[in-house]
Amino acid sequence: MPIDATRPYDDANVFAKILRGEIPARRVYEDEFALAFYDIAPQAPVHLLVIPKGAYVSWDDFSARASEAEIAGFTRAIGHVAREHVGSGYRLLANTGSDAGQEVPHLHVHIFAGAPLGPMLA
Ligand code: C5P
Repeated sequence: MPIDATRPYDDANVFAKILRGEIPARRVYEDEFALAFYDIAPQAPVHLLVIPKGAYVSWDDFSARASEAEIAGFTRAIGHVAREHVGSGYRLLANTGSDAGQEVPHLHVHIFAGAPLGPMLA
């Protein structure tokens, strides 16, 4: 069920649990600001998710409340993961709110890669 991206952060969401190590994920990268792992239901040969460590519901929430250091750190982490795990080109996507179909109420950026991607994913 898509979420209302303006709602308060709920730390029972599945990505908060992954960050706390309460449920498993195939982790590929972690630093002070971000965690990256393989999507459990891949929609491309390479489908990764990058999430900030801070408690942000959506891109709207993150861009409004995160510090400059968090924004820079998260952005650099996405670039690092893309360079390390992706070959010839990739697509970034951040579903935000119900009209975009955001399911998990913790900001996440999808990285799709590994084949010609066609017009739309996720
Ligand atoms: O952008 P959206 O909120 O729709 O994407 C959520 C993504 O989180 C889905 O691609 C889903 O497969 C993924 N997911 C995951 N591991 C979980 C729960 C969801 O990779 N435990």
